[in-house]
Amino acid sequence: MSDIEEHRKKIEEVTLEMIKLLKTRTDIAKQIGDAKANLGMTVTDEEREDELRKQVTKLSKEINLDQSTALKFLNLLLNESVKVQSDNKQTHLSVFLKAKALEEEGKKIIHLEVGEPDFKPPKEVKTALEEVYDKGYGKYGPAKGITELRKVLAAQVNQEGRKVSEENIMICPGARFGVYLAITTLLNPGDEIIVIEPAWPAYKDCALNAGVKVRTIKTTLETEWEPSIEQINNAINENTKMIVINYPNNPTGKWWNPMVDKIINAAEEHDLYVLSDEIYEKYDRGTVLGNPSCWDVQSNVDKTIITKSFSKSHAMTGYRIGYVIAEPSIIEKMSKLQALSLTNVSEPIQYAALQALKADVSGNTEIINSRLEALIKIAKDIGLEFIEPDGAMYLFAKTKYKNFDATKFSEKLLKHGVAIAPGEGFGDYKEFFRITAIDETRLKEGMIILDAILKESYE
Ligand code: PMP
Repeated sequence: MSDIEEHRKKIEEVTLEMIKLLKTRTDIAKQIGDAKANLGMTVTDEEREDELRKQVTKLSKEINLDQSTALKFLNLLLNESVKVQSDNKQTHLSVFLKAKALEEEGKKIIHLEVGEPDFKPPKEVKTALEEVYDKGYGKYGPAKGITELRKVLAAQVNQEGRKVSEENIMICPGARFGVYLAITTLLNPGDEIIVIEPAWPAYKDCALNAGVKVRTIKTTLETEWEPSIEQINNAINENTKMIVINYPNNPTGKWWNPMVDKIINAAEEHDLYVLSDEIYEKYDRGTVLGNPSCWDVQSNVDKTIITKSFSKSHAMTGYRIGYVIAEPSIIEKMSKLQALSLTNVSEPIQYAALQALKADVSGNTEIINSRLEALIKIAKDIGLEFIEPDGAMYLFAKTKYKNFDATKFSEKLLKHGVAIAPGEGFGDYKEFFRITAIDETRLKEGMIILDAILKESYE
């Protein structure tokens, strides 16, 4: 056998051995996942992972293997375990789907779990949709979106004191797709992303889907949902490529605070991308001065990606339209995947969004704020524990009861016609739940039931 043939044979043998090991590993990961779920433990144990990371670093030195490659490979394996073990997590989406099924059976449900305004988009949208047929909006278009819409959006961003052009804007079907594109195109399998929890679940899910390792930073009610700079610095290593920030925050309602500046500075120091999800920017209670955005702090704008949307500001969730602001080179990369996966965002919807921008939607902010005030008051009256949200449209709370399990409670509450979002969907927060600020009458009705079931179950 020639040398080449011999080496080929060896590689094949090693590969087959690896596949067998991978199968054993997946089976064990599944068993561990079930055991953790039974014990109410979280899927990821950062300390344990750090220990393993140290061992891999040591081993890679001993066997003279490039450290970064070894750690990336470890990340891929860790990710597989997380995927296998994350199957049975209850999120706001799974509760929403159960609630919808109950409604189809004829049950009445008060939706305090879903994150969408329960009022209509501006009238301009209706008129626009009537016009699209005659105006000929219904063709394939540029992957980045209609130039006119991108220009108007750029002008709007510039009114806030920034300097962008349409080349910095890409229209996408909702901020969710913007998040997906940013993570999928800018990061490679084995890279790491930092997510500050509690967090909207999609950041983590998109990363997992792309083979990107998620480093979660857990914040607490006691520290008012602010991470420490030590937590951030400890989470950064040579494979870290991106950090996600989301202010006003879903689910806590926390808005910009001095800590965010420090996070951005740390990201800049380590040349990380900052993915700033600013979808709730219009919903603020005025507790934070000004209208801060990631670009006000970061000078390294070529590493900044901002996602925004018409979903919340214009109550257009089902229209599926949002946009990304970033450097043209990033927009270019993202638009390639957008073109590949969906050609372009529906033209009629882009036209409707263009017209929606002409509407005065400040009334929506007032509606959401007055609902938030009502929610805060009721939640205080029934003794929930939380920090008052600065913005967004939610309250993230826990109860005074020890060993309170929000997932079980949400299941029980659903049987009584009220849907809430269990905290475990936002990270390691089994004792918390999220309530959406909906129309006051329905909100009160729902909260009365919530209070009654809480007392009935725990007192
Ligand atoms: N980011 C956050 C923080 C959200 O809460 C949501 C929706 N709930 C989105 C993005 C997605 O919004 P869109 O409808 O624009 O995809």
